Amino acid sequence: MNIVTPSLKDASKSFLQKDLKTALNSIQEILNLAEENHSLDEIIAAKIFIAKIYCRKGRYGGDNQYFSKASEVLKTIDEESIIEGEIINFFLTKSEVALLKDDASEAHRYADLAFQKSQNENNISGMIRSQLAKVEGYMLKNQFTDAANLVNQSLVYLTKIEEPILKAKAFNLLCKIRIKQQDYNDILNYGKEVLAISQEYADVEKEIIASSNLGVYYGSRLDYKSAIKYFFSSLEKSKAIQFDRQTAQNLINLGTIYARLFNPKESLSNYQAVVEKYDQVLVDTTRTIIYNNIGNIHFEEKSYQESKKNFQKSLALAEQIQYTEMIALALAHLGKLSCEEGDFETALSFADRANELLEDLGDVNAKSINVLNFAKLAHHSGDFETAILHLKEGVEISKKVRNEENEIACYLLLAEFYRDKKDFENAFYFKSLYAEKQEEYLKKMRNRQILDQEIKFATREKEQQIDALTRANKLQAMLLQKQEEVERANEQLTQANEVLKQFAYVASHDLKEPLRMIGSYTQIINKKLASQLDENTQTYFYYVTDGVERMNNLLDGLLKYATVGRGAQDLKVVNLNDTMVICQANLRLLIEETETKLEVDDLPSILGIGSLLSQLFQNLITNAIKFRNKDTIPEITIRSEEKEHEYLISIKDNGIGIKDEYKKRIFVIFQRLHARTDYEGTGIGLAICHKIMQRMGGKIWVESEYGQGSTFFFTFPKPQREYRNN
Ligand code: ADP
Repeated sequence: MNIVTPSLKDASKSFLQKDLKTALNSIQEILNLAEENHSLDEIIAAKIFIAKIYCRKGRYGGDNQYFSKASEVLKTIDEESIIEGEIINFFLTKSEVALLKDDASEAHRYADLAFQKSQNENNISGMIRSQLAKVEGYMLKNQFTDAANLVNQSLVYLTKIEEPILKAKAFNLLCKIRIKQQDYNDILNYGKEVLAISQEYADVEKEIIASSNLGVYYGSRLDYKSAIKYFFSSLEKSKAIQFDRQTAQNLINLGTIYARLFNPKESLSNYQAVVEKYDQVLVDTTRTIIYNNIGNIHFEEKSYQESKKNFQKSLALAEQIQYTEMIALALAHLGKLSCEEGDFETALSFADRANELLEDLGDVNAKSINVLNFAKLAHHSGDFETAILHLKEGVEISKKVRNEENEIACYLLLAEFYRDKKDFENAFYFKSLYAEKQEEYLKKMRNRQILDQEIKFATREKEQQIDALTRANKLQAMLLQKQEEVERANEQLTQANEVLKQFAYVASHDLKEPLRMIGSYTQIINKKLASQLDENTQTYFYYVTDGVERMNNLLDGLLKYATVGRGAQDLKVVNLNDTMVICQANLRLLIEETETKLEVDDLPSILGIGSLLSQLFQNLITNAIKFRNKDTIPEITIRSEEKEHEYLISIKDNGIGIKDEYKKRIFVIFQRLHARTDYEGTGIGLAICHKIMQRMGGKIWVESEYGQGSTFFFTFPKPQREYRNN
């Protein structure tokens, strides 16, 4: 079974490059083969691989059916009969399925089993893989410190063996943990190392994750340009392999970065793309946050209706999953919105509801917003003192949670409220604080917007380059495909032609012999019986002989047709005037008998085969005479016209003409439009002409007005320059 090994390799390669469909197909093939051969070990290996692919598919697209599929495949494996080497794989895949089912303890159980097995076998790489599987279980349970410790242990093992892909996996996990812990320092080095490894080993998935991690790192360093670069690169690739979860994550990250760059439009379009196209991979917590962010952008843009809709969506979702912080934030935002719209009654109820939750939450962003709501409400009810207190508290909390906009809004209101109370000193103080902070803020905003423009310019340029490349690639692929199709069609055609030629040749040749026998013996019988035959029987004998003769003609025609251009004769320069001289000599009798008027232009020299060309002209001229109108003298005009790339020759007659619907059919062998009693013939002549023209690399067709005459046209490609005036 040596085919299994390379094929399995192919499957793993596709797997690494995340071409899951190809991987699945190859492995399915292997499984079939293994089943045919009753090779149990291979069956098991293939099944585990299939389960792994299903897991991956599920993980990329968030589609639960794949986890169940993976489970089912694994269930068909009898644990007892798994060989040593595969059992670790088996446990790890089980662990992966459990993870995807959000069952962290089951995931841990199998990861531990795999670890024990690996340890018994002194299989270090197995031990590392088991540990990393366990790390993912910790991540699921939000136990980031445990997760980090275990990754670090694995990294120690990784110094003992050369397993770059496992190392990349460990680094990626560590980055993920650090991001969760909001500690971004290590990410730069780890991320870059993973990028290098994954590019070297064409491991697209790890490259996607590393790029995204690096984006987060640069975002945290306020280097938005680099952040966007990495998010984009990750996005491009995650889209390509349909790693939808990561695609959604990249879009969210881009949305956030654009919001920080004060580019609401771009930010919104990324967030919208997530909820519109990748909703199925989002978890409710993320969804809640995205709707909140969308609501915020609309609020800034003063589209309050849209804003309200999204805050309400965020609220409903947050309530469903009891995500208190987001419930409070949505309520605070809705309160702010109602204040803005002057609906203070509603605003109060939102603010009160938010406040209840905020008591347990401490100083969070929602609180800074809600305090400002209370200030506005107090001011509205004329309670100046309370309003001022709230605003001062608002300033403090805003500073803590770094909500600059809120802080600035507090200063402005403080200045206004004091002014209303004619406390000009305080009014002036807060007004200048406001001006200072606002100036700073606007400066930052302007700088970021400039940066945004720069990034846009750079990415647009890159996009255009990518676009152009993709287009060129597509075109090339299309051309290649077309070329292949044409080549294939040509090959088929050549084969078919060859078969047909053979058949026609053999048939016509071999059939002539028995036919001659029929003819001869009929004549002998006829002679012998001549005296005893009545008139009817004589007529029957006549029919037989006539049939034989006709069949003989047909076979001759077929033979001629089959042999047109047989043998690899080269095309030579032929002067068509010479061809006409031969034709006219051959047809002299017919032309004279019918008093045909023949008018011929001076004809060019072309590349062809002399004998075939005489046949062509002869067939066409004979037809022009044969299909004449009764009681009219045939008139035939032969013209030549020089075109840019070819010579166009026409043979025009004043005969019976051809109906439109038959103009193509007449070039097909044995196609005739008339009864034999009207016009003699076999229906082979034009088929031969067609073949001859094919052989010369030209075309032939007819134009005709029924009853008025026909013109047969044919073209010859112009000879290369050196032949032209021969
Ligand atoms: P044949 O002449 O043996 O019948 P061809 O292949 O030469 O076979 O012609 C096929 C059919 O095309 C003819 O039967 C006839 O109906 C039609 N045809 C050919 N040439 C002419 C023409 N010059 N004018 C009218 N009909 C024609």
